[in-house]
Amino acid sequence: MKMGLRLKSSLIYASIIIITVAVIYFGAGYMLRTSFGDYLVKRISAERSSVLSSIKDAYTDEGWDAAILSGLIGKAANAGMGMVIYDLSVKMVASSSGQGMMGRMMRGRGMSGMWNKPRTVSETYDIQKGGALIGSAFVTYQNIFLTDYDEEFLQKFYTFLLVSGAVMAAVAVVLGIVFADTVIGPILKVLGMAGELKKGNYSMRVSGKVDTKEIRQLYEGMNVLAEEMGGQEALRRRMAGDIAHELKTPVTIAMAHLEGMEDGILPLSKENISVSIAEMQRLSELAGKLEQVARLEGKLDVLDMKHALLHEICAEAVDAVRPLFSTKGMKVGCAVTGSPKTLALDKASMRQALDNILMNAFKYAPEGGEVSARTSYIDEFAEITIVDDGPGIAEKDLPFIFERFYRTDRSRSRGSGGMGIGLALAKSIVEAHGGSIRAESSFNDGTKFVIRIPYGVE
Ligand code: ADP
Repeated sequence: MKMGLRLKSSLIYASIIIITVAVIYFGAGYMLRTSFGDYLVKRISAERSSVLSSIKDAYTDEGWDAAILSGLIGKAANAGMGMVIYDLSVKMVASSSGQGMMGRMMRGRGMSGMWNKPRTVSETYDIQKGGALIGSAFVTYQNIFLTDYDEEFLQKFYTFLLVSGAVMAAVAVVLGIVFADTVIGPILKVLGMAGELKKGNYSMRVSGKVDTKEIRQLYEGMNVLAEEMGGQEALRRRMAGDIAHELKTPVTIAMAHLEGMEDGILPLSKENISVSIAEMQRLSELAGKLEQVARLEGKLDVLDMKHALLHEICAEAVDAVRPLFSTKGMKVGCAVTGSPKTLALDKASMRQALDNILMNAFKYAPEGGEVSARTSYIDEFAEITIVDDGPGIAEKDLPFIFERFYRTDRSRSRGSGGMGIGLALAKSIVEAHGGSIRAESSFNDGTKFVIRIPYGVE
């Protein structure tokens, strides 16, 4: 059965209280049966001894004093004992019959359900005075006898337990509802937000004063989720546009040339055919790079790992691009710090990752810019830092530059950008090595790329 949180928590609270009261009720009953029962037995035997030891005082030289005997028999009756006193000739001198004693005993039985079954005990005692036998006393009593006060106390005690149990159960139900309400409100909010996310509305956020830690964490988690889903959605839309653009441009150019030649508008020349081929090559190159990223992301055994020194690969990459950099009056330097240690590396792939980053620095930096690459051998990893003094990357673009096809607006409009695959590929390569890559930059203030590769198991 599906129950609402409100009903569920009320029932849980009420059940806890009912179980507690039942345990106290039966536990107290058991305790009373043992301890209070013992006490009753002891009390009756003390009363009996007290009455029996006083009977001799009612015997004087003139015979039995009826007034004293009546008082003692009354006392015995109050304690729940019937008593008949005989003289030496076994003639009855006093008796408790007619003192309301049986009535008391019957009332005493009223509570007997809670006790071990009361037993009627009959005993005969000799009465002596000054060492001489003067008579005997026949005593009858129930081994458990409750006085009116005992009964009243027990009745009150049990009533108190039942009433307080009922009150506590009622309070528990109310508390359960109040508790459920403090949880239900936020849950309903989160449910509402989940519904909005499902509909594709990622701008909604949950807020409000919350003093429960878990609920606050739930709110924060939901808001982060909505933020990320919104970001992913924006990226997905942008990517779809970018892919279309990347595919359309070369196809349009190639088509225009081929159709122009077919219609006789363009001469059927080697140059015009070469333009079409170049555009097709561009498409093929794009497909090849995409395939490479996908393969590396699958982290299949695509890397050809060998022990190598990272700074040597870095120096080779820098040396290779230096002539190109000089065409733009740019300087590129390379350095190493720490004691070089070999790493398991796929040299060709790692070189490609570095090439992509260096080529970006070349593409986006203005004439006469400066680029420096430094390899540092640190405790658990080696790190390459490539810094340029180019235009930098805006804060809003930074989280996305490693995504496939992502290009900033600026590089797009300037037409200097590539296909938006270079950094995605660099990231796949570095991560396939178990490493990480990140970029730090601010608009108009250069860019810094940091690649970390762990030494791993030697
Ligand atoms: P692209 O082929 O467009 O260069 P990348 O994946 O290599 O694609 O880079 C993604 C985007 O990041 C680029 O379009 C560019 O806007 C930005 N970018 C990368 N490196 C730099 C850099 N050194 N300086 C400024 N912007 C950069």
